[in-house]
Amino acid sequence: MKPALVMNDSAPMAPRRRLLNRSGPAAALLLASSVLPLRPLQAAQAASPGAAAPWEVPGEPLPPMRWSALALIDELLIPLDRPWRQPQRTLVPRHITVHSLSQGDALMHGQVLMRGLRSEDPNSRTGYVSWHFTVDANRVVQHLPVNEQADHADFQGPGNRESVAVEMAAGEGMTPAQVLHRSAFLVARLMRQHDIPAARVVPHQHWPRPPEGARKACPSVLLEGGVPAERWRRFVALAQAYRSGLDKYRPLPPII
Ligand SMILES: [Zn+2]
Repeated sequence: MKPALVMNDSAPMAPRRRLLNRSGPAAALLLASSVLPLRPLQAAQAASPGAAAPWEVPGEPLPPMRWSALALIDELLIPLDRPWRQPQRTLVPRHITVHSLSQGDALMHGQVLMRGLRSEDPNSRTGYVSWHFTVDANRVVQHLPVNEQADHADFQGPGNRESVAVEMAAGEGMTPAQVLHRSAFLVARLMRQHDIPAARVVPHQHWPRPPEGARKACPSVLLEGGVPAERWRRFVALAQAYRSGLDKYRPLPPII
């Protein structure tokens, strides 16, 4: 059954676009990005905190009339035949893990994950790194269905087994407010869809990494002194504000 829109201001949202087998601007961008050299991006670099300055988190959500733009998700799933795609490792999301990337945009990371991003760590479950969504200033790209585990946090640990991974593109040229609104909106939808409370929206830093229990200072742009503090609290508050708004204004189809 289709959920009714409570608001009457606009056309229905178009929350998913499939980028493969598609023409138009997104496909053109994808083609352009596919000829860019991708080699320099190693797993360690991609997930590294980088040198990005801390981000100021907006205090208020965007007005509902602008949510259609936030709701769009471009789908660029890792092909099923890749060994780093493991659909039998099912995920029932209990947490949302937020990361940041020090370079690249969402389409580029979509390409990188399709080609495979190697993990240097011998404890890695597949020898590769993966996550569910990359958010940049202009779009959300989905790499894995939310019912499949990704490899982004703690190998065999609960971060990988129980959480959906959202990477924010925080490299040069990204406007923090745009990335943060889009990320918070996506987190809000996932919170609502999977009944995840704010306390279980966590930074990557939350998950100790076996065997020695190190914690990565990620997402660097939202941590202070390597730990979540006021800036992180403001990000979760922004996601919660969108979450409350979704109850009132915009029932959206589930993210698959
Ligand atoms: Zn991370």
